[in-house]
Amino acid sequence: MLIYGILLPINKFVDMLMNKEKEFEQTITKMLELLGEDPSREGLLKTPSRVVKALRFLTEGYDQDPKEILNQALFSSSNDEMVLVRDIEFYSMCEHHMLPIIGRAHVAYIPNGKVVGLSKIPRIVNVFARRLQIQEQMTEQIADAISQTIKPKGVAVVLHARHMCMEMRGVQKINSTTVSSALRGLFKSDERTRSEFYNLINTQTPSNF
Ligand SMILES: [Zn+2]
Repeated sequence: MLIYGILLPINKFVDMLMNKEKEFEQTITKMLELLGEDPSREGLLKTPSRVVKALRFLTEGYDQDPKEILNQALFSSSNDEMVLVRDIEFYSMCEHHMLPIIGRAHVAYIPNGKVVGLSKIPRIVNVFARRLQIQEQMTEQIADAISQTIKPKGVAVVLHARHMCMEMRGVQKINSTTVSSALRGLFKSDERTRSEFYNLINTQTPSNF
């Protein structure tokens, strides 16, 4: 009885998820029809399921908790020099048009007794990139997640990004880049720290490196 009692809700849960995916695929089929396409032609037969899969992947950040990721790899350290991870590639989607935002992130912090495993920084960028976004908000979210978890002396986040909703439609400003920044603690209050950071992110990386 007990096992039955546990299994039944799990089955129902799986059914619910499958129905949700089916409904999602039907919505994409409808969208193709509304675009004037024939969803039953060969090339489009698997498109709804592919689109659903792609969208699920591109928005998987909703199911991830940035603080949990950072807390898994926090270590005590006496280092109080700037830690910088630069040129982190990211792919996001704008929340107004659901079109791609393609960019690079530079993330720095000054430890205050704790450091985080370096690989977690790009992961945090991805958690926020894989949600529907606006660039300014994403910049702030990365800075706040690091501030609140690592509690460093300062955090700086700079994003450079190209917005396909600007380039592919409307104003068609090809190759224009939007830059946004979020500065916390020493990066905001101390000009030397801030200019050291900007110098480091503006230095060209040698091409053989
Ligand atoms: Zn947009």
